[in-house]
Order: sequence, then structure tokens, then C-alpha cells
Amino acid sequence: MGKPDTVHVIEYGRRQIPYELVRRDRRTLQISVHPNLSVTVVAPRVANIRRVREIVRSKARWVVHQQDFFRTFLPKMPPKQYVSGESHRYLGRQYRLKIVKAADERVKLDGKYLKVFTKNSGDRTRTRLLLDRWYRERAGTKFPERLAVCHERARKYGITDSPLSIRKMPRRWGSCTNGRHIYLNPELIKTTLQCIDYVIIHECCHLKVPRHTIRFYDLLSRIMPDWRKRKEKLERIEL
Ligand SMILES: [Zn+2]
Repeated sequence: MGKPDTVHVIEYGRRQIPYELVRRDRRTLQISVHPNLSVTVVAPRVANIRRVREIVRSKARWVVHQQDFFRTFLPKMPPKQYVSGESHRYLGRQYRLKIVKAADERVKLDGKYLKVFTKNSGDRTRTRLLLDRWYRERAGTKFPERLAVCHERARKYGITDSPLSIRKMPRRWGSCTNGRHIYLNPELIKTTLQCIDYVIIHECCHLKVPRHTIRFYDLLSRIMPDWRKRKEKLERIEL
């Protein structure tokens, strides 16, 4: 196997799939999706790069499909049980869940504890509901604060302010519709402020450049030079 010359990216909708391009003495192009979700493209040494990209792009749907298939075999975080002692994150920090029986239902951060006061301490569904509601409330306070900070940063680059909504999305941290409205996943409140800001700035850049083009990444890098580090953190954080 030759040394990969560079890492390229396939665009599929909003998904970006990096792949390694390897040149070899062969006639046909071969795309492989590996069980760890990485993608390798082996191309003839003489093939024109534009043509290579074109073929890879035409196979994007298949690549995504293969990755989704392999993803089901990757180790996942065990599902939360919503019992005392379990670890839950808020703004990147881990807290220990403590279920407390009380008439007045609420959730409160207390030192290293995340306390859930509930009428029925044995009802995990109720605990989950109370906790989800609390996360959402926190997101409702925190996200607009971060948006204001990010807007200030983005305005210098000719990006106008936009309204924000919080919306559950199965596979995305954020999105932006018709270049006017930013949506953030409430789950983001469990990650760090650095990650939240990264997602907001990323979506702010979409207000100006809709697709993930070179112009998009230029703009993103100017507004937030360390975005790659933040993105990596976001991808690695276990919630
Ligand atoms: Zn994007």
C-alpha cells in the first residue's frame, strides 16, 4: 500500500466524509469503507484529480450507507439508567446523579452532585423527564448568551445576527435554515462552552456561505482559528 498523499473530503448533504487518497499503478478506482468508518480511495497513478473527485462524489451515498452499517457495530456508551451515582454531564463537567424524594420537584447542581428532587424516587422515567426539562431550561439560558458572544465575533466579518431556536436533532449539533435561522441541539448543553461556541460560529458562517466550500472554511478559520481542536473535542466527548 502506498502512502496516502492527502486527506480529501466527500460532501454528502451536510455530511463531510474525509478519505485517504492513495495512488497506485492500476487501471480502476477503488473505494473502501473500513469497519472503523475510515474511507480509502485507491486511484490510478495517472488519473486526473478532478475526475477522481467526481467518481468519489458519485459514490457518496454508498459510502454513507456503508458507514452507517459499520457504525451499528461500534461500541456505544451504555444507555443512562437515571439512578443515583450515575455520571451526567453539564457544560462538559461530570456530576453524580442523586435522586432525592421531595414534594417540590426540581433539579439542582450542588457541588459535584446533580440532584433530582422527585415525588417518586423509584420512577426513572420521571427522573429522566425532570432532568431533560432542566437541561432544556439551561440550554434556553446559556445558548442565547453564547449566541450574543458569537454574534459579536461574527459581526466583524460581515455576518448579521440571526434568531436562535433549540431543537432536538438525531444526528446534528446544529443547523441553519435558509441562511437566516440557527437551530441548536439541546444536548449541546452537556458539552463545553468551547464546543457550543464552535457549533454556533459554524452555523453563523453558513449564514454567509451555505455549503462547506473552501470559502466556508476560510471564513470559519478567520473567525475561530482553533475550530479543529474544538470539533475534535466535540466528537470525542462521551455524554
Ligand atoms: Zn456546516
